[in-house]
Amino acid sequence: MERTMVIAPGPTANGDLHLGHLAGPFLSADVCARYARAAGRDVLFGTGVHFTQNYIVTTARRLGVPPEELRVRSGEQVERTLKAVGIEPDGFVPFDERYVTGVRRFFERLHAAGGLVLRSVPFPYVARTGEFLTDAYVRGTCPVCLSEGCAGLCEGCGHWIGSGELIAPCSTLDPDDEVEIREARVLVLPLEDHREALTAYFAGLAPTMRPRLARLIEELLAHPLPDYPVTLPISWGIPAPFPEVEGQVIYADAEVVAWSMHSSALAAERRGEAPAGEDALWFAESGAKVVYFFGSDAGFAFGVVGVAMLMALGGYTLPEHFVTNEFYELDNDKFSSSRGHVVTGRELAAEVPRDLIRFYLAATGPDFQRTNFTRGAMSQVTASRLVEPWNRVADKAARAAQESGGGPLPVSARSREAAARMAERFGSAYDARRFSLTAAAFTLTEQLGRLDRWEVTAADAGDFCHEVDVFLRCAAPLLIDLADEALPDLTIPAASPATEVTPRVLPRLTETAQ
Ligand SMILES: [Zn+2]
Repeated sequence: MERTMVIAPGPTANGDLHLGHLAGPFLSADVCARYARAAGRDVLFGTGVHFTQNYIVTTARRLGVPPEELRVRSGEQVERTLKAVGIEPDGFVPFDERYVTGVRRFFERLHAAGGLVLRSVPFPYVARTGEFLTDAYVRGTCPVCLSEGCAGLCEGCGHWIGSGELIAPCSTLDPDDEVEIREARVLVLPLEDHREALTAYFAGLAPTMRPRLARLIEELLAHPLPDYPVTLPISWGIPAPFPEVEGQVIYADAEVVAWSMHSSALAAERRGEAPAGEDALWFAESGAKVVYFFGSDAGFAFGVVGVAMLMALGGYTLPEHFVTNEFYELDNDKFSSSRGHVVTGRELAAEVPRDLIRFYLAATGPDFQRTNFTRGAMSQVTASRLVEPWNRVADKAARAAQESGGGPLPVSARSREAAARMAERFGSAYDARRFSLTAAAFTLTEQLGRLDRWEVTAADAGDFCHEVDVFLRCAAPLLIDLADEALPDLTIPAASPATEVTPRVLPRLTETAQ
């Protein structure tokens, strides 16, 4: 059976997940994996937390806690939050010796394959402390889009901005420090060497890339691609295992592929398999497909750098799809942990049933553009488009069950045909190729509305109950608790073979968590 490895790259381990994280890659990856499984496909869903970025150091400093403590605590919070909203990965990447060893081995192989070269790269430098400033340690103006931010991936334009390229850099560790630019010899991945292969690869992906990623790739390929540092002259991170850059660490953002492979290996192990190495599932001959879910601002790291590394190594499968998302806002303002402008998944799940949360995050999901969360709109939309219509449908099903005396009711060929169309509509929203949370929620609302308007008679009660059953199976990747309670199994058959149906009493939805 063809295997798909669904990967939602972990957030930086410097805090809990807020709704913005959940509404983007995590819910999408979970829904995609649940659907594929229900449709009889083999799926491994891997995620976790990323424990090595120096944002952990700067956040820990702000909070007055040791960074090692912050990252462990954050990892635990993220796991609990995912669980609270029913996001169930097969593998979750923790920070441990095995991960560190895996990363070092990965870069040793990449270096041995001739993928890395030693180059002089400019970095902001503070003479007072003798420290180079990279990523979270330095703020300035993005030379591409002129927005303010740290070095690395720019949230504004999605380009990767080398620390030494920032306009007017200043230290975030101590803003009063004088910053100069100094060169350091580091190992880099020369992305320009992979231009031809990257161009061909992204041309193949063009039909399914969402617009913002497609634009980024076009902008990047219009200019020489940068030398991407794989080691950095700082002290926070995994020590680089190369004598020519002694004392340096692996650039955390360069760990993308090693991290992804590790998440797949852990996912397979949780299922009782024993892959022959961290990367075994990623060998091209394994035939597995890789599908990524991440925010658009991670496109450079996973799309360009990750793919170029896989090309440099050779023999590995290249990602089949990148399903990207945009920002999700809270009350028309960016989610911000440092300003306390957040709603965490766990807070909301304590008050609202998680099926309603999943439905609403999907209905307003930032698939293609910035979207917005407000508590008031959530109450209104979930009540009028999900809870009330579903409860009316459940009432009609209960009446049909009562009137049939529990016996089976006939299902017509028309109803089998309608069920097949319904499964097809849901399938096209859930399938990785054109995956869309908003399309899935829209289909759910439309089909539920149809069942709600149905004036059930004795003659078509069987058809009604049959289509409610198929609807629930199709809605199950979103409405996990309702489906678990109502259905004996969660399979979604490609064609409904039912000629009769036994009406069931169905659970009702409530608007507040029990
Ligand atoms: Zn920018």
